[in-house]
Amino acid sequence: MDSPDAAPLVPALSPSRAADFLQCPLLFRFRVIDRLPERPSAAALRGTLVHAVLERLFEVPAEARTPRTALSLLEPQWQRLRASRAEDAAALFSTDEEVAAWLAEARTLLERYFHMEQPQRLEPRERELRLEVTLESGLRLRGYVDRLDVAPTGQIRIVDYKTGKSPHPRFEDKARFQIFFYAVMLWRELGEVPTRLQLMYLGDGGVRWYEPTEDELRAAESQILGIWRDIERTARSGGWRPRPSKLCGWCDHQPLCPEFGGTPPPLPEPAPAL
Ligand code: SF4
Repeated sequence: MDSPDAAPLVPALSPSRAADFLQCPLLFRFRVIDRLPERPSAAALRGTLVHAVLERLFEVPAEARTPRTALSLLEPQWQRLRASRAEDAAALFSTDEEVAAWLAEARTLLERYFHMEQPQRLEPRERELRLEVTLESGLRLRGYVDRLDVAPTGQIRIVDYKTGKSPHPRFEDKARFQIFFYAVMLWRELGEVPTRLQLMYLGDGGVRWYEPTEDELRAAESQILGIWRDIERTARSGGWRPRPSKLCGWCDHQPLCPEFGGTPPPLPEPAPAL
């Protein structure tokens, strides 16, 4: 059993790292402890670009938030991203035609956004809100909320943009976990239960939303604490086991994974703070 006085090995947890651990403890180790590099992904880079455009869209006056304005923001945001992620951009694209095709897909996502809601009618309280909250247990949670809307009645809505397609109901758990993670942070920060948690899938126009109760947030918080304790136990024992699934197809670390005949490198000494 862990000593209650043991120093926490995991001082902070984000929804993505928690989801990594749930998916596969060995993947978590490769990403967080070994910090192994991964290949850049065109889809992830496009997601970053579309998020940046949607964030900037709310900087212009409400009446100017049109598809035309959003599309006009695409090129300057791409140039900014290209400058800050020059290596990734060079690895992903070898010709201007490849960039143009990739940008066309980003354009489609932005156009679809305008079929899902009318930004002219919204005044978000926050965009790209960085949250960091320490729970009573001492665990720090952190993450970025894409958008926070507060109605004149005081009702709070957390909005998360996804640039992929909406998942089959059987596979909604990951996205639900992530947005409940944000809701727990906000609840603990403000002392108020957010009224609505909204996932917007720009890949197909699907919207999923939840109206959490305080009991559901308490349950989500317990789940997060359970994951944290599992991570700490695993870190102390060094038993970072692979958990194969269909998602292995997207894992860059197959050559080092015992499930695929590989051998993980020795754990770094001393272990970095997680
Ligand atoms: S290949 Fe699969 S089992 Fe192996 S580390 Fe990656 S996600 Fe885990």
